[in-house]
Amino acid sequence: MTTKHFADGAAVPAIGLGMFDYGGKMEADPSRDETDLAAIHNAVKAGYRHFDTAEVYSAGHSEELLGQALQQYDRSELFITTKVSPKHLRYDDVLAACDRSLKRLQTDYIDMYLIHWPSEEIPLDESFRALNELVDKGKIKRIGVSNFDVPLLEKSVKLCETPLASNQVHYNVLYRKPQENGAIQFCQEHDILITAYSPVKDGVLNNATVKEIANNVGASPAQVALQWLVQQSHVITIPKSGNAERQQENLAAAEVQLSDNDVQRLDVLG
Ligand code: NDP
Repeated sequence: MTTKHFADGAAVPAIGLGMFDYGGKMEADPSRDETDLAAIHNAVKAGYRHFDTAEVYSAGHSEELLGQALQQYDRSELFITTKVSPKHLRYDDVLAACDRSLKRLQTDYIDMYLIHWPSEEIPLDESFRALNELVDKGKIKRIGVSNFDVPLLEKSVKLCETPLASNQVHYNVLYRKPQENGAIQFCQEHDILITAYSPVKDGVLNNATVKEIANNVGASPAQVALQWLVQQSHVITIPKSGNAERQQENLAAAEVQLSDNDVQRLDVLG
């Protein structure tokens, strides 16, 4: 398995499973439980070890399904990321939200806990005070953020008492905002992993250059798009699929070989 390393030395798989749309969209939809649980088991069978969820996904039901499915595996081999909603960034609210996530996930620690989106009203130092305390208590192993730009990352690095683990951002071969606003470079220079979300969206799979390179290297367009991400320094990604074949296809993208010329052609697409 291809892994990347956090500043604290721990390894994390370069490709994990995104879990938005598991358990419903923004509301819980238990009618899909059987299919969704089977999909999580398929993912583990295929070799996924990093699972990315959030308290807001299907109003907590994505976390519940993950917690339920993962009971039968060795927790120490799994890496769970979840996220606190921007509505819960007051000191007491962060602590309470984390306890609720732990309960739904049926675990006593979260490997990486992210601020899902920055809040315009709640000062970041208040949220980090709670997050640092959660690390001290052992309820979360590391702290990260999501959808943060450079000024917010600069503040976060100062407020985080442990190395800031990751910034999770919308990033793919056609969507380059975090490159353009300097967030990618900032993370690389500060040893922070970039978790690329929506890696196969925005028309990536139908792009002519992506398709041509896929054809040349004997891979699928999704694999080319995912490999382009993970061949970059400090970048990991979390494609979502509920389909066993596409889960396998996405995981295998970590082994796809792109030539320097392929990478250069993809680099100029954005
Ligand atoms: P993705 O880029 O992962 O795209 C998911 C969609 O693509 C699904 O419809 C899936 O369908 C399809 N798909 C997946 N693999 C393939 C493939 N190999 N070939 C063809 N189609 C494929 O987008 P997401 O927005 O879901 O992002 C991934 C994850 O990132 C989320 O699940 C979530 O965990 C996280 N995220 C975080 C955000 C944040 O603010 N921090 C915001 C958005 C997402 P199917 O299931 O049928 O295979």
